[in-house]
Amino acid sequence: MSRDASLSDLACVLERVRATASKKEKVSLLASYLKGLEPKDAEFATRLSVGRSSERGSADEARVGYSTLVEVILDLTGRGQSQLSAAYLEQGDLGEVAQEFLSEKRAQPLFEARLSLDDVKSAFETLRSAKGKGSLELRKKVVESLFLRSSPVEAKYIVKALTGEMRTGVVDGLLEEAIAAAYSVPKDLSARAHMAIGDIGSMARAAASGELASVRLRPFHPVNFMLAEPLPTAEEVAAHFSGKAYAEYKYDGVRAQVHRLDGLVRIFSRRLEDITSSFPEVEGMFRSDGRDFILDGEIVPFAEGRPLPFQLLQRRLRRQRSFEQAAQKAPVMYFAFDALLLGEDELVDEPLGKRRDALTEVIGGSGAALAHSDLVGSSEEVAESFRRSRDLGFEGLVVKDPESRYSMGRRGSGWVKLKEELDTIDAVIVAAEYGNGKRAGVISDYTFAVLDGGELRTIGKAYSGLTDAEIGEMTKRLKESTVKNQRYRMVVRPEIVIEVAFDSIQRSDRHDSGYALRFPRIKRIRTDKAVSDIDTMEKVERIFSSQKLKVE
Ligand code: AMP
Repeated sequence: MSRDASLSDLACVLERVRATASKKEKVSLLASYLKGLEPKDAEFATRLSVGRSSERGSADEARVGYSTLVEVILDLTGRGQSQLSAAYLEQGDLGEVAQEFLSEKRAQPLFEARLSLDDVKSAFETLRSAKGKGSLELRKKVVESLFLRSSPVEAKYIVKALTGEMRTGVVDGLLEEAIAAAYSVPKDLSARAHMAIGDIGSMARAAASGELASVRLRPFHPVNFMLAEPLPTAEEVAAHFSGKAYAEYKYDGVRAQVHRLDGLVRIFSRRLEDITSSFPEVEGMFRSDGRDFILDGEIVPFAEGRPLPFQLLQRRLRRQRSFEQAAQKAPVMYFAFDALLLGEDELVDEPLGKRRDALTEVIGGSGAALAHSDLVGSSEEVAESFRRSRDLGFEGLVVKDPESRYSMGRRGSGWVKLKEELDTIDAVIVAAEYGNGKRAGVISDYTFAVLDGGELRTIGKAYSGLTDAEIGEMTKRLKESTVKNQRYRMVVRPEIVIEVAFDSIQRSDRHDSGYALRFPRIKRIRTDKAVSDIDTMEKVERIFSSQKLKVE
């Protein structure tokens, strides 16, 4: 009888992959591991390696919250919360903490109790479907029984998978190469199949069963979106294209792939999550008999011919249940700009012009809108189209080569985007937190504030933009200026001034300024500025009201 694939073999491979810096070696370790697996195990093992338990695009993932995992770890080890918090602060990874805590005071699991990948899969399925009353207890029991049957290192990977925070350096691209190597698939075929399947687990399964060559786009299986390259000016956009190009308005909403199969509709987000239930009216626009398709576009909060603030959409994505009310407060429109599949015809390798024709056919009579597109050549034409887009309340342009293919998951040079750079804000850091993962042990999250008369008002929290050396320097300075330690957070003397870039300003009750910067990133540390030089609420309000997309 052949032995079932075990979790311990997978954990062992992942430990080795993590330990080597050589990409080649990572690929070869994964490839030789995959080679020995049945197709079904190759599917689950590859998914688990990237912290997923189900196919991309399925509505549920097996996830367990930190507090539940912590409770189970504490129950099993008899240790205290404060010890665990201290260990977490130091390690920045709950999986590592689980491994450390569970390796003490506990015998190794019995041989008979060895966990197979199938065992883990069925436990994860229970977790995925556990909902409603009593589900918390059930989840705890399932996690506990997994821990009781696993070695500390296996428990670590269970925690990592359940939190979705693997931090092993195994990403889809690496697995794509490993699959190609394991099953001797030519690289271009594996790349193409991966794009078409979207899900690395399904790809591993198809490769292990020798079916990769026949993989095609299928409705209800989302694929990675094509992305656009940013360019700073209309002149550069015009120079980028040799002939005429389509300048489409850049809609600020949620990127959405709409799939229709046998009259039924599903909608997938940029992260390939099923978001159909958040947008029943978009589903309704396309729910009818007719040819199957896959469309690409943007769901935009929109009423009376104008876009509404993006923030309304976020609320809608969060509050999935009260659709009626949400739909009233935040009506949306689907602006479609591409067609990847229509009926039996895979369109991704066709030129954009032809894909637009197919798109026009699908959109006709649906109630959805076709993205606005101007044919442009000169920089003046680009600039004019850009101004029109801004005047109508849109974000700018995405300019596209009419001959370009749809490069799934790539930032192809066929699409470029032009946005208006907003002003930056000079602010002072008033509180900070330790980071986690790669940033464990350093203070890398900064809450910052602007001046309101003589008071400081917080307006955002930034994690990105600084180099490791700068973060090291910040850690030192912030430790010195800490005035109060709260659990994970320290309040600091307002001394360090940073210049923050951002995408827009929105109203927010999270910060006491009443506003929040959207996508803040630190442009530089302004050692040349004192707190008295930072920006004020007046400036924030000025930028806010000059934005086309006003809140409320
Ligand atoms: P950004 O989010 O600034 O990196 O800009 C890229 C995003 O713009 C894409 O991922 C889409 O979600 C969005 N977008 C809006 N309008 C279009 C369009 N006409 N064509 C392509 N992408 C668009």
